[in-house]
Amino acid sequence: MSPPPELLAAILAKWGNLVPGPGHPKHHVAVVGAGVSGLTTARILQLHGHSVTLFEREESRSARFQGGTLDIHSGTGQAALELAGLTKAFRACARPEGEEKCIVDKHGTTHYAQGAPAPGTGGATDRPEVDRGQLRQIIIDSLEAGTVEWGAAVQSAESAEGDSKVRVLFEPGSASAERHGNKLFDAIIGADGAWSRIRSVLSPAKPEYAGTVSIELSITDVDSRYPEIASLVGQGSLAALQDKKALISQRNSGGNIRTYVWLPVPLAWPEDTGIASMSPADASAYLRANVFSDWSPRLLALLDASAASAAEAGGAPYPVRSLFALPSPHAWETFPGGRITIVGDAAHLSFPNGEGANLAMLDGAEVALAIASARDSAMLGRNIAEFEKQMMERGVKSSAKGFFMRDDYIFHENGAAGAAEFFKSKKMASGPRPGAAPQEGQ
Ligand SMILES: Cc1cc2nc3c(=O)[nH]c(=O)nc-3n(C[C@H](O)[C@H](O)[C@H](O)COP(=O)(O)OP(=O)(O)OC[C@H]3O[C@@H](n4cnc5c(N)ncnc54)[C@H](O)[C@@H]3O)c2cc1C
Repeated sequence: MSPPPELLAAILAKWGNLVPGPGHPKHHVAVVGAGVSGLTTARILQLHGHSVTLFEREESRSARFQGGTLDIHSGTGQAALELAGLTKAFRACARPEGEEKCIVDKHGTTHYAQGAPAPGTGGATDRPEVDRGQLRQIIIDSLEAGTVEWGAAVQSAESAEGDSKVRVLFEPGSASAERHGNKLFDAIIGADGAWSRIRSVLSPAKPEYAGTVSIELSITDVDSRYPEIASLVGQGSLAALQDKKALISQRNSGGNIRTYVWLPVPLAWPEDTGIASMSPADASAYLRANVFSDWSPRLLALLDASAASAAEAGGAPYPVRSLFALPSPHAWETFPGGRITIVGDAAHLSFPNGEGANLAMLDGAEVALAIASARDSAMLGRNIAEFEKQMMERGVKSSAKGFFMRDDYIFHENGAAGAAEFFKSKKMASGPRPGAAPQEGQ
């Protein structure tokens, strides 16, 4: 596990002059959103001696389950963590064995398999997995006490004092407006995700439906209760792809398995079928009968075990999400003086392509360095313009990759074969996984 030293050196050389001192002011920055991009921004600004207030609309750090596992790439997410001084903390909970990967068709026949890396090595692709919740926790714990203002839902932002300052706007009369409405900042970073409020200050772009509904299932205690499923999914992920349907399972920490059912259906499909309000048992039965009726029983066991786990946890319906993406290219004019900008999904929400969180963290790291190195207003404007240009270029590539993955293999008639071609073309190590995975369909 290691971000390339030359990449880190290049990023630091680009921004340089980081520590406030004589002739180099301490900046007061507001960050909106405590996802991975906003937290990374806040941490790196504080590391370089700047003052940060982070506004997050959720009521507390544990208000919401943060989702499944993320693979953290060396050239983006790991580089950001290194710049944030958090590599050691990350390594302590990263799971290199999570790089194990298997791609099968609806019969369970393996088209691609990538084994877990040998202990002590960086792995085939140097992309260890970490639970989103753990990653977020590491960064929150690294911030100065009181940095995050929980329960602070931001509405917008505006220029103040002739463009020399900016102000965060909250719902008039709300507690947040009373406490923070009069504060002035040198810069505001919108890290507020797909439905960003800060984005609308810069751009009229709105996310569009990306033609996919995602249903999220989970199985607890898989090793002792469902050893066949534990072996099927292995230590990493199992993607079953065919007939323009996807069943993607990934191991999380603590013996849990999350499965995403992805379907290319109209936006109204969840409402038309009522799946979002069905009990887990009914939803699994619906998917078995209407979506996956000719799929291998070994794969369909994922649906049954998920229903059983959900029933034990209280029987709440499976979360059903429609996936959106911003139009690409998404570009905007730099805000006067560079005092308001956006990062992560707020700037370049893409169809999930395995790198959104990684790019979001790199954005967070780079915008923090761009601000930290600005010695005056003119330099702040130039640095933010330069940062945005590079981020927009990354965003265009990420968007194209997302739609390529969606159309060329996830929702391809022969999805498993297409995905196998994709991974082989990337020259990832392919070979039998130790001890598991279906080889022939059944
Ligand atoms: C199904 C799925 C699977 C994915 N898998 C991967 C993967 O394997 N690897 C990967 O790298 N990426 C993955 N992604 C993409 C990844 O989740 C996002 O790119 C990443 O979370 C973006 O981080 P962010 O910090 O920009 O935004 P977010 O994580 O969305 O954080 C935004 C934060 O802002 C807060 N907020 C929102 N509005 C306001 C407001 N008005 N006021 C105050 N706070 C606000 C939110 O509560 C939230 O805490 C996946 C996405 C999806 C949908």
